[in-house]
Amino acid sequence: MKTAIYPGSFDPVTYGHIEIISRAAKLFDRLIVLVSVNMLKPASFTVEERKKMLTETVAREGFANVEVDSSDGLLIDYFNKSKADVIVRGLRAISDFEYEFQMAQTNRRLCYKAETIFLASKTEYTYLSSSMVKQIAAFGGDISDFVPEYLLGRITERFNKRKD
Ligand code: ADP
Repeated sequence: MKTAIYPGSFDPVTYGHIEIISRAAKLFDRLIVLVSVNMLKPASFTVEERKKMLTETVAREGFANVEVDSSDGLLIDYFNKSKADVIVRGLRAISDFEYEFQMAQTNRRLCYKAETIFLASKTEYTYLSSSMVKQIAAFGGDISDFVPEYLLGRITERFNKRKD
């Protein structure tokens, strides 16, 4: 049985992430979507809120072999603890490459078994990021092309509250 971990901030989850989850779930027996703390990025949603949005997404999209978890430690410690085989990441453009390459190399340095595979984003989601969604929502724009309808309310509400 092959287990993959798809780690990320998911702040919030977007159609870009969901597309990667859907494809990775078909490639592996078990996929763990791991909400991890990225110290370089201030978050708009708590880890619990992000987990809840992902759990709902997994249920609504019917991803039977996908689990959602979180970690505030090193990815490689979670990788070893969960006896995973592979780390999955998405690649949108060349701008993602340097950071992703560095992370993959570092994880492999920390644990030689930690193989990272990259799934190239679907063309229509190449430009899509959580930070773009947050910027549009913060200015009251329409984000319905970027996140599922069942998450729209809580994302827009977060930014409406900030405007008060
Ligand atoms: P992190 O802070 O770890 O980069 P993100 O939630 O921003 O977390 O991204 C998690 C992973 O999902 C990364 O590998 C990122 O490249 C990938 N990703 C994000 N948005 C998209 C998208 N639109 N299409 C494909 N992959 C994406």
